[in-house]
Amino acid sequence: MKEASAERIREEERDVETELVKCENCGSNMVFDPESQQLECVHCGSKKSFASGVIASELDITDGFSEDSEWQGEDVYCFFCDNCGAKIVLKGGEAATVCPFCNSAHAIKPEEMSGLKPNALVPFVFDEEKGLELAKAWAKKKFFAPRKFKKNITSDSFKGVYAPCFTFDSFTTSYYEGRIGKTHTRTVGSGKNRRTETYVVWRNIRGTYRYNFDDLLITAGKKFDQPTLDKIAPYDTNESKRYEENYLLGFMAYQYDEELTDCWQKAKRRIDGKLKSLILSQYIHDRVAYLNVSTVHEKVTYKYVMLPVYVGAFNFKKKLYNFFVNGSTGKVSGKTPKSALRITLFIALIVAVIFALAYLFTS
Ligand SMILES: [Zn+2]
Ligand SMILES: [Zn+2]
Repeated sequence: MKEASAERIREEERDVETELVKCENCGSNMVFDPESQQLECVHCGSKKSFASGVIASELDITDGFSEDSEWQGEDVYCFFCDNCGAKIVLKGGEAATVCPFCNSAHAIKPEEMSGLKPNALVPFVFDEEKGLELAKAWAKKKFFAPRKFKKNITSDSFKGVYAPCFTFDSFTTSYYEGRIGKTHTRTVGSGKNRRTETYVVWRNIRGTYRYNFDDLLITAGKKFDQPTLDKIAPYDTNESKRYEENYLLGFMAYQYDEELTDCWQKAKRRIDGKLKSLILSQYIHDRVAYLNVSTVHEKVTYKYVMLPVYVGAFNFKKKLYNFFVNGSTGKVSGKTPKSALRITLFIALIVAVIFALAYLFTS
């Protein structure tokens, strides 16, 4: 059913209203300014504050599942730019954009979105220029990256994006039983036969373990995968703000395209792994024969949070390399091309050192 309706919606554009804020002073566009956490006029620099700073609340996951079931697949939005009148179509789950004709900033109003609506957001705290500086400093330290890569990190292929994620809270109670072992050594025999041998003492364990998980972060967008998120994490989602589309003005943003149920399954798998190591850490052991854990989740809540990421792209020998800057902490991660020349030089240097040492020691 869901598949069919998703197909249907994808083909039709939905006319929507967007948030666009004009300067009271000069009539130009306003965008979100990370430094002041206010809206700022792109022309005269006037500031305008909005209801920022309110902490986002946790939502009941059961309500989330039913709201999610009304999701109609990736929305295709269509709107007329209030500034220049151009018709703009947003595809692929975009929730904010900059008009390609007049550069004005637009954000889709949450009530226009089908399915879940974002309720939380971690704002950008520094601007694109600073993000670019951090990316350049990171690239500089990549020894094997070609010079061309380091030189060509420019603002043309560097954009601030709000990426959709879910956080999950859960009060867990786990019942476990297992068998673990600890290796010991002992000395046996006497005289010539005296030797040390190792042996394992096994024991059965069982018990109850309680743990409260807080804001476990799972990506909700296919464009921003979990390994990437894990690399530039953490984000202080406990301090995340109540969602306001004003934060999006001047940035790109994407809506979720992974269902809440699937993301909750992924979260549970992470929780299972974490619980196993927490349970085992209570015991002195170096072997595990088996460990069975059965976990009950209570008071499960979630937040649909938008996270700030500067995304950079670089084309090298027909391959695309992306790198990411955490828009809140400045942490950078990504893949860089590797220069064959630099690798060869490095190997040549090592070989030279080995020969030099061999010469020194043999002569
Ligand atoms: Zn102005
Ligand atoms: Zn326009």
